[in-house]
Parts: sequence; structure tokens; C-alpha cells
Amino acid sequence: MCDGGAGLAGAPASRAPSLDTSTKECTMSRSPLSTASTRRRRSVRALLGLAASTALAAGAVVAAQPATAAWSGSCSAGYVGLTFDDGPNAGTTNQLISTLTSAGATATVFPTGQNASNNPSLMQAYKNAGLQIANHSWDHPHLINMSQSDIQSQLSRTQQAIQQTAGVTPTLFRPPYGESNATLRAVESSLGLREIIWDVDSTDWNNASAATIRQAAARLTNGQIILMHDWPAATQQALPNILNDLKSRNLCPGHISSSTGRAVAPSGSGGGGPTTPPPTGGGGSCTVTVTKANDWTDRFNVNLAVSGASSWVVTIRLNGSQALQNSWNASVSSSGSTVTARSNGSGNNFGITVYKNGNSSTPSATCATA
Ligand SMILES: [Zn+2]
Repeated sequence: MCDGGAGLAGAPASRAPSLDTSTKECTMSRSPLSTASTRRRRSVRALLGLAASTALAAGAVVAAQPATAAWSGSCSAGYVGLTFDDGPNAGTTNQLISTLTSAGATATVFPTGQNASNNPSLMQAYKNAGLQIANHSWDHPHLINMSQSDIQSQLSRTQQAIQQTAGVTPTLFRPPYGESNATLRAVESSLGLREIIWDVDSTDWNNASAATIRQAAARLTNGQIILMHDWPAATQQALPNILNDLKSRNLCPGHISSSTGRAVAPSGSGGGGPTTPPPTGGGGSCTVTVTKANDWTDRFNVNLAVSGASSWVVTIRLNGSQALQNSWNASVSSSGSTVTARSNGSGNNFGITVYKNGNSSTPSATCATA
């Protein structure tokens, strides 16, 4: 059901193009709270039924034929962030990926941990399509009503589920319903996650037509982000036109920078995206797994494992005032809170020791081929 209804009575959906956190997005997983919301959910389900039949055919194409198309437009007007929340879903995700990849387009997806865990092959499909994968909580609760420890569980379980299914560690987080507070932001920060809301709300969660969704996307300017969802049939219908419209405006689909929160040129890493451009290469595909190891009072070890390349550059983002103390099995340098590690012939497993300086959270990392 969608949150224009009973769950958020008195909070009207805004169609303003500016950032508006009072605008609520929605999910299909809520229990019905009123006859109105039940009716809305039924109508959405009916639409999804139609989408599912076309998605089945599209899914076969995705599985058999990896993305080979290249975006054919100019990026002279900049980049925009197309975001799709609440996936992956068996009925719609393959069609979404097929539409994106056949146009050579990318996007940022915000799966829930629960959906990721239930659909590991679709998480791999996100990854294989080069989409940026981010965190959208475990099961889409109203986090602002929860304790810090429950919030921590919602976010960290989802980080683990995405790491286990797609092999990437998100650096971006979108709170369900766009609802945030200081407690949530503290948890996000401890996990190395940047909070991403949106500039333009497509209102696809509120049964917007494909034409309305397309018109919303037409308002996007360089660096901006639009809220859409994985599951609405109207979004699937609108997407080819949205991509054509962007081409005609010399705008390109990008990824969202975890350092600025703005849409930028995609890194090609398929993961959370680096906080700074990769020092070398940058077009290749590899992934890095980050595991906290020995933990002392003042410092801890981090083990990192690269897959997908033998020659690589891993960019590690330290948290707070953390500082690099030591490293092994890679050529490592640091500048501020950014640590750069390059393969040095010692294989794909390396490590660093980090001084906590008051922050014990595990650093995030991204990988590029070199
Ligand atoms: Zn959502």
C-alpha cells in the first residue's frame, strides 16, 4: 500500500520539485489499515499482475544476454540520479533492468534487506547490470519511531544481506518514507552511509500515471535525484520515454556520490560508488569485501578481499577521525580519511590497521580495476 493513505493521515503528497521530506513514499508490504488503503492495494496489485506477465518474457532476455548497449546520448548537460526503491521483486525487477540495459542506462536501486535476502539472483542481476546498490532498511518500518539499537539492526542487517547477495557494500541509505531524525543519522554515520532523499518525487507510489511520472522526470536538472519505485507498472511504462527525454536534453543517468549526495558520472564499479574518482583506471569491474578483524582498545584490523580483478585500486573511506596505522599485502597510502590501496603482486587479500580515535565503525571500500 502507499502512504498517501491511512498510515500518514494529514500529510498531503507534495508535487513540488524541490526537496520535500514531508512527501512520503510507499511500500507494498504494509498491512491494510483501512478500507481505503485496502482498495488502493488491490488496485496496485491488479496493475502488478499485468506487469508480471511482460516481465517474465523480459527476464529471459536479461538472463541470456548481458548488457551490451551503450548510452547513445551526450552528457553535456550533466547527470541525474534515477532511483528505484523497494526492490527487488519477482514481477518487475527483470523488466526494469531490461529497459535500463537496452538503453545503456544506469540507476541507483534501494532494495530492502528482506527483499534482497529473498531474491539473491535479482540482486546479482542488479549488480550485473552495473546499477548502484544502496540500503533502504530491512523491512521498511517507520524508523523514527524505533530505538537506536533497532535502527542499527535494520541498517546493518541490510548491509550484510546486500553484501552477501550482490557482493557490494552500500555507501548510501534512503530512509523509508523519507523520514529521518538525529538518532537515525547517527546510525547511518556509524555504518559509513550517506542519507539520500530526493529532489523530485515522481509520486509513482501514489498511483501516478505514466504520463505524470514522465513529466516529473522532465523537471530534473544536473545533479538532481528522482524518487521512483521498482514495483509500479506505470513506472515501467514511463521509463523508456524518460530515458529518451533525458537524451534529448543531453542529460545522462548517473550514480549518486556518497561524498556530495549529488548525481555524477557512474564509476562503473557497480557498487556504492567511490567517494573520490578512482586514482587510475576506473572503468573496470571488481568488488571488495570488508571484514573487521582483531579489535583492540585504540585500533582494529580490517581484512579486505578483492574479487573480479588481479590488478586493482581499492579506495577505503575511514570514519570520523580514524587514521591509518599499518597495512599489509598491498601498496597503501592515505590522505585525510581516504586510504588508497593498490595491488602489489601479493594476491587479492590485504589488510590495514586503523586507529579508532573515538570511532569504532568499519570503514567502507570500493574497487576499481587498474
Ligand atoms: Zn520505500
